[in-house]
Amino acid sequence: MRNIKIPGLIHTASINTIFCIGRNYADHAKELNNAVPEVPVVFNKPINSVTYDGAEILIPENLTKDVHHEVEMVVAISKYGKCIPADKAMDYVLGYGIGIDVTARDVQSKLKEKSQPWTLAKGMDTFAPIGNFVKKEAVENPHKLNLQLSVNGEIKQKGNTADMLFSVPALIAFISEYCALNKGDLIFTGTPKGVGKISDGDIIKASLGDNLSALEVSVRAI
Ligand code: MG
Repeated sequence: MRNIKIPGLIHTASINTIFCIGRNYADHAKELNNAVPEVPVVFNKPINSVTYDGAEILIPENLTKDVHHEVEMVVAISKYGKCIPADKAMDYVLGYGIGIDVTARDVQSKLKEKSQPWTLAKGMDTFAPIGNFVKKEAVENPHKLNLQLSVNGEIKQKGNTADMLFSVPALIAFISEYCALNKGDLIFTGTPKGVGKISDGDIIKASLGDNLSALEVSVRAI
């Protein structure tokens, strides 16, 4: 596994808990026929799901026939905090990067039908590719960043973090009330509309802001 290209920030050994937010963009909630949530939808990805720029997303064909891309801004947490007030939340941010919340949609649909947790759909090996991270000081406004994802050169998702239903401070305040945050935690902040299937041989490129963070991965069925 390659080390992340963050200058001085996080690398494989120091990623801690991975939190993800579902349905944080109204247009994406709609495209999957989900209601817009009143409070953040929070789930986790296990550490085995992490992979990096230049690596592969592996699709186990015996387990899933419908794997989707979800491009998301990822927030890296700098230090321990519990019940962090929203107006202090940015003090706990280390930086920002691009990530893909890879999802086995068919597996997730079955789990949802049975009201079961999404872990198996979201947490397969390589299902959380992340790009380089930049320190927060380099980002003027994290709520005004373009997000983009292309498959084989064709743009599939184009959004802006301005459209998140719950802002970065709101997410940090909400999560930390239930679960203390720690240095090295990552928060995947949700995806805009345009999610779709990825298949063997695809090349996926994703970016955040004006070249703040970028990621390129290929897809391989196994
Ligand atoms: Mg997602």
